[in-house]
Amino acid sequence: MPDYSDYHARKNGSYGDIWTKTGRCVFCDLKDKYIIAKNADAVLTVNLFPYIDGNLLVIPKTHVEGFLDISPKVWGSMRNLTELGIRLLQNELKIGEIWLNYKTSRGLTSGKSVSHGHLVIMPYTDGIMKWNYQEITIPPIELAERLRNAKISNN
Ligand SMILES: [Zn+2]
Repeated sequence: MPDYSDYHARKNGSYGDIWTKTGRCVFCDLKDKYIIAKNADAVLTVNLFPYIDGNLLVIPKTHVEGFLDISPKVWGSMRNLTELGIRLLQNELKIGEIWLNYKTSRGLTSGKSVSHGHLVIMPYTDGIMKWNYQEITIPPIELAERLRNAKISNN
C-alpha cells in the first residue's frame, strides 16, 4: 500500500517509489475525503502529491486513458468541474493564473504517472515548469496551411 500521507513526495523524490507499489488504478478507487465536487461523469479532487499548493485534478469517473477516448459528454462534465476548480482557487487561495494540462496518451507515456486520464489544474507561478525551446523546422504559416488542408478521420 502506498503512503498517501507523504504529500511532499514530489519534492523529496519518493513519488516514483510510491507509484510503483500501487498495483491498481488509484483514480478508479478515489476516496471521498479527497473529492471536492462531482457530477455525473467526473470528479474534482485534490492532487495527493501536489506540485504546488492548489494543484487539483479533474478525473473522469470511468476508466479512460487517451484524450481521444473521452466522449464530448464526459468532456463537458470535466469542463464544468474545471471551471469550479478555477473559481475555488481564485476565491479561496487568491490564485490568479492557472495552467491546464492533459497528457493525451494511453498508458504511461507523455510523462503520465497514472494512466487513467486526468486534467491537471496547476496554479501558475514563474518557474513551475521549464520550457525547452526547440529548433523550429516548420514555418508557422506553412503549418497553418498544412493543417487546414489535412484530412483527418474520427476514429
Ligand atoms: Zn482508472
